[in-house]
Formats: sequence, structure tokens, C-alpha cells
Amino acid sequence: MWHKSSQSNSDSPESVESRASRLRSRFGKSQSAMSGALRRVFTSDDDESWQELEDTLIMADLGSGAARDIVSSIRSQARREGAGAQVRDIAHRHLEELIDGGFDRTLATARHDDRPAIVLTVGVNGTGKTTTTGKLARLLTAQDKDVLLCAADTFRAAAAEQLTTWGERVGVAVIRGPEGSDPASVAFEAVQAGVERKVDVVLIDTAGRLHTKQGLMDELGKVHRVASKYGPVDEVLLVIDATTGQNGLAQAKVFSEVVPVTGVVLTKLDGTAKGGIVVAVQQALGVPVKLVGLGEGADDLAVFSPQDFVAGLLSD
Ligand code: GDP
Repeated sequence: MWHKSSQSNSDSPESVESRASRLRSRFGKSQSAMSGALRRVFTSDDDESWQELEDTLIMADLGSGAARDIVSSIRSQARREGAGAQVRDIAHRHLEELIDGGFDRTLATARHDDRPAIVLTVGVNGTGKTTTTGKLARLLTAQDKDVLLCAADTFRAAAAEQLTTWGERVGVAVIRGPEGSDPASVAFEAVQAGVERKVDVVLIDTAGRLHTKQGLMDELGKVHRVASKYGPVDEVLLVIDATTGQNGLAQAKVFSEVVPVTGVVLTKLDGTAKGGIVVAVQQALGVPVKLVGLGEGADDLAVFSPQDFVAGLLSD
């Protein structure tokens, strides 16, 4: 299961640049359904093709409102430009603008003068939260940052085990508590250890039990509060499984009502042609997609780039 990057014959993390170009091509491949429909509209400008494009965008989980709006703006600009209009360029510009959304996608992981940056990962169990936390530790390690991991999901022994395995792989220490202990006290212990050890970033993996909103608020709200004891939490990353579409999004929304989410990690984009969920997520939650998961390997996490995404979408 341990993935070694094809560019390297050691266990050192793949560089950020090489990872970006490898993932760009994989990203492109996952988008073939959309690029097929786009190609058809480029070649025959009739009602049927435009409708087909709209349907494909809806099927790609863009959301019906956004799909209608984007198709109608691409189409009206193509009309305005008349014969010879570069429909592909127009679509490129409009899609990039829609997906970019004017969001700041910077990951706040820079150490403060007197304390580490604190990052919480939250989301429904099974979305890929623990895997993402491990991959993120590796991404940050590749940027020469000192990282401390915290397994604050004390409800599932397997989750703490899994994170500990990631810690060993990445060469990063993991703070964990006994099964069933208070997640907030484990989170606090980790932040305190991060301050004492002068690390750059503390990554806290939380529990994703979706029982009741009140229960979640009590548990996760408390973790968030104690993690803020030395200063505000820098990032709250909400992990969403792209293959669960609008349903997954509805579930994830509860988390954003409980903690102040600063960014989304969309996982499993490698296993779906439903990349349109990027737009739906950003519009529904009002926060940017900052990272994407494109596989189970340790280096299969990339910083989300609207430019690369659209280039992949429209590639042949
Ligand atoms: P958690 O319960 O949210 O912590 O989920 P896990 O981290 O245990 O992940 C659940 C499953 O999803 C595991 O089998 C992971 O390997 C898998 N997974 C996580 N991220 C990705 C991804 O980006 N792509 C694919 N294909 N699988 C992923």
C-alpha cells in the first residue's frame, strides 16, 4: 500500500513541482466525460449540443443553476463574437472565472513568532480525513516544515492506528490519547507539545461521527476551542469525498455550521468524472477548495489550481 513516487527511488517526499505536473495529467484524465461534451459543442453550434453540454455539466455535479448560467454565458458570448468565435477559448475563460471565484487559496501553515500554525481536518468518517492528514504532513515535510500530528479521533482506535502509521512513514511524531478519552484534551496536549517542541505546524485529525448536530457541536466545537488556546486556529479543512456528490455536500455542510471552515479538501477526484462538485462546494459553503486528493498514494495530494483544473477539463 505504501506508495513510492515514480520520480524517486527513496522514501523522501516528491517535490512540490514534480507532484504538480504528475497530478495535472492525472487530473486531466479524470475529466474525459466533460471534455467530450465540450468538444461536441465546439464542432456543432446547435441547441441540442448546448443542451447536451448543460446536461453533462449537471451530471458532473456542477449544480443545475451554475450549469445553466455558465452555458448561457458561453453561448451568448460566442454569438456576440459571431462566425469564427473561439468557443473553446470562451469556455476556458468562463470556466476558469467560475472555478476561481476570486478565492484566496493560500494554505495558512506558516509558523507564528511564538507558536506553530494549527490545522484541523474535519469531515464525515470515510471521506478520507485521516489519509488526507497523513498526506498533508508529507506535503508540508516536502516544504521543509517541522510537523506534529495529533490523532484526536479517540472514538475509533483504528483511526489513531492509521495516523500513527502515517507518522512513521512520513517521519513525524504523533500525539494520541487512550481510546475513549476526551478528544479535546488530546488536541490540547498536541498544541502544547507543538509549542514546546517549536514545530512549524500541528495537524489535528478529528472524529467524524455524524450523530446529532448538538453532539458534533459539543465534541468538535470543544476541540476547536482548546486548539485555539495559544492563538486562533489557522486552518479548518473540511474533507469531502467527491464521489458522494450533492449528498456528501449536504452532510458536510453540518460541519461548516459547527466550526469555521477555511478551506475544503476534495478527495477521490481520481475515481470520478464529477469534477463539477468543485463549483457546487465553493458556492454552497462560500469557502475555496484548497487541496485535492487524486489517489491513495502518499504523494497523491495536490494544491488545487483552477488553471490546471480547467486545462485538464478542456484537454483532448
Ligand atoms: P476517514 O474515515 O475520513 O479518516 O477516511 P480514511 O482516511 O480512512 O479513508 C477512507 C478510504 O478512502 C481509504 O481507503 C483511503 O485510502 C481512501 N482515500 C482517501 N483519499 C483518497 C483519494 O484521494 N483517492 C482515492 N482513490 N482514495 C482515497
